[in-house]
Amino acid sequence: MITASPTSRLSPPVRDWRELWRESFTDAAALLAAVGLADRADLLPPDDAGFPLRVPRGFAARMRHGDPTDPLLLQVLPRRAEHDDAPGYSTDAVGDMASKAGHGILHKYDGRALLIASGSCAVNCRYCFRRHFPYGDEIAAAGQWREALARVREDTSIRELILSGGDPLSLATHKLEELTRGLADLPHVIRLRIHTRLPVVLPERVDDAFTDWLAAIPLQKVVVLHANHANEFDAAVDAACARLRGAGATVLNQAVLLRGINDEVKTLAALCERSFAAGVLPYYLHQLDRVQGAAHFEVDDDRAVWLVDALRARLPGYLVPRLVRELPGDPSKRPIADFAR
Ligand SMILES: *Cc1c(COP(=O)(O)O)cnc(C)c1O
Ligand code: SF4
Repeated sequence: MITASPTSRLSPPVRDWRELWRESFTDAAALLAAVGLADRADLLPPDDAGFPLRVPRGFAARMRHGDPTDPLLLQVLPRRAEHDDAPGYSTDAVGDMASKAGHGILHKYDGRALLIASGSCAVNCRYCFRRHFPYGDEIAAAGQWREALARVREDTSIRELILSGGDPLSLATHKLEELTRGLADLPHVIRLRIHTRLPVVLPERVDDAFTDWLAAIPLQKVVVLHANHANEFDAAVDAACARLRGAGATVLNQAVLLRGINDEVKTLAALCERSFAAGVLPYYLHQLDRVQGAAHFEVDDDRAVWLVDALRARLPGYLVPRLVRELPGDPSKRPIADFAR
């Protein structure tokens, strides 16, 4: 009999993540063929609306075979609706351009500075604001870390540095080391937070070199994952989460509420319970950022509030995510119940 012992769950991934990343799907026809939808030419997008398809093979392997409504497929497959004009949807939905405090740094909220460590992601999510963000100028990775960290050094109110992007884990580990070496002389920074989807879509990224790097950082560490559906978790993701926790990180999950993907009570409850089974606590459930090309994913606020109320009735309090929306100029993410009722 084979049982999963704690040590075997912590063993490192077998294949190199960069190699797996290079093998990602970048072609809609190839992706559809791999999930048993080769005969569905009607699902082929007319084009990628300027935001290319990118899906790691391991993530595609978690999609249901032959199901065009699969919740993982719908997150990544370009659709005609991306061309629909929707009033109120813009290319800078969260006001990031207004809150730039320096190259590659966003300082919107007290005590927290967000560093755009990389413009790349392992997956391109169709609902993402990133489809319009002019990352060319804003990537701290492009040799601008020194300047970004100098901003953090000057402002001693910053207690937490958030590595975000894009996806900071798309950087090689030696690049991350370079970056965090600069944190050693910033005594006011006590927490490092990492926002990443890579442990979910390409769990092999959480390899020995990475966990050694994370474990050695002498700060409080938080990793905020991004999974929207229980089916995004499998044994490899569980192992990656266990390795993150083994390296001393508190691991949380943020999800985006997406029409046709996770906008049912049972689907959200399954996501929260499945992530907890991986040792991950629900953090935020985001209302969609109103970015052009994503309007077909939106769930209205009344339904969103109703869904979270229903979750609250059904799950222990610690498994209920906070429903929020990000609005330009706000001092924090805004809890939605406050204005919907
Ligand atoms: C979301 C976000 C944060 C973090 O907000 P929390 O509520 O602490 O999770 C920090 N800075 C920026 C620019 C953000 O968008
Ligand atoms: S930033 Fe996050 S949501 Fe956007 S494409 Fe990258 S992984 Fe997906």
